[in-house]
Amino acid sequence: MILVVRDVSIVGGGLSGLLTARYLDRVPGVDVRVFERRSRERYRVDCGGGFIDLRGVLGLVSDEVRSFVRCEVGSSVWRFKGDFGVRKVSVEHDDFFWIIDRVGWQEKVIDDLCDVDLVFGEEVDVESLDSDLVVDAGGARYRLGSAVYGVYKGDFSKLSNRVIFDYRQSLDGYYWVFPMEDGFANIGCGEFGGDVGEGVLDSYVGELPFEVGFKVKHGGGYFDYTYFLKDVRGRRNRLIQKKDGGWLARVGDAAGVMDPLTGEGIGGAVSTAYCLSKAVKKDSLDKYPVWVEKQNNHTVRKKMAVLRKKDYQRFVRRMGVFDGVRSSDCYSVPKFLIKHPIRSIKFLKS
Ligand SMILES: Cc1cc2nc3c(=O)[nH]c(=O)nc-3n(C[C@H](O)[C@H](O)[C@H](O)COP(=O)(O)OP(=O)(O)OC[C@H]3O[C@@H](n4cnc5c(N)ncnc54)[C@H](O)[C@@H]3O)c2cc1C
Repeated sequence: MILVVRDVSIVGGGLSGLLTARYLDRVPGVDVRVFERRSRERYRVDCGGGFIDLRGVLGLVSDEVRSFVRCEVGSSVWRFKGDFGVRKVSVEHDDFFWIIDRVGWQEKVIDDLCDVDLVFGEEVDVESLDSDLVVDAGGARYRLGSAVYGVYKGDFSKLSNRVIFDYRQSLDGYYWVFPMEDGFANIGCGEFGGDVGEGVLDSYVGELPFEVGFKVKHGGGYFDYTYFLKDVRGRRNRLIQKKDGGWLARVGDAAGVMDPLTGEGIGGAVSTAYCLSKAVKKDSLDKYPVWVEKQNNHTVRKKMAVLRKKDYQRFVRRMGVFDGVRSSDCYSVPKFLIKHPIRSIKFLKS
């Protein structure tokens, strides 16, 4: 499959759509337009802003995002609560884990676009467009899970540059606490199996050992992780397919590249946008799924996500193996095996 793409329509002006446009901006002979259904004023980015390099995308965005970093994360504490009591796991982040101002980042991408036609306030159907390449960057399609968050003012100095992931046996997901600028934190809750309400978050905030003041902002949205766990019909999600007269490709959450264990989707949005634009520039759309798979095929996280649902206690035992580990040692299975042979055996035995 080789196709010379001259005309690209992107449906969705979230991170994945905007970055696809940005990477294709000013490519000679390629016309790009983006349709975003929300108006510029009502344009929202609902996110915790936690950005960790799980897909090797650092080199692509590190410089441009650096000025939007709100907190450089030094360590994360994973708390697990269940019938067995409470178990804590600490992971060191000597590498790259940021809490970012994603709204600011997206605004900057928009400002930097040159030859892209960006249309706000227009909802379009991907099927109705007849460009050479239509890109579905419209976010979660199946709404398999959901998340809510609030930005709270308070005294979070005890957190320092540490983030908290708080799992509960009774919750099909986890709470997070992400420190931002001085005196602010993003606190949220993601539920992988359904709809989570604001009330859940309010009672969690009441339990926290910090002086949490008032909520300055809140939001929420949907989670899709279909690429890893297959689509809702149990079939593999298709990243690219033929469409009358052209092609339809999916990026970001629409491609289902969200991490099924953590809900991390920013890296997936960056990596799919980059891979698709590279495929267009090289006239090789057939390479798009191959490149995406290479960056996003994290078997261990997929298996751990399944285990969390099926056998929570065993999941917690396995997570315990990572206590005291540096996150950069976990980026690939061979690296972890070489650096931590005993832990690897423990992991397999647990
Ligand atoms: C509450 C919450 C917290 C999160 N926290 C994190 C986090 O801390 N770290 C992380 O990595 N990930 C996080 N995620 C996931 C992350 O936000 C997503 O993976 C990421 O936003 C995906 O970007 P996207 O561009 O694919 O989709 P989106 O950001 O959802 O953008 C899709 C855009 O398309 C527009 N659109 C949809 N349909 C149409 C249409 N028919 N016509 C025109 N426009 C349309 C929508 O208005 C929207 O602006 C979180 C998600 C939620 C909901």
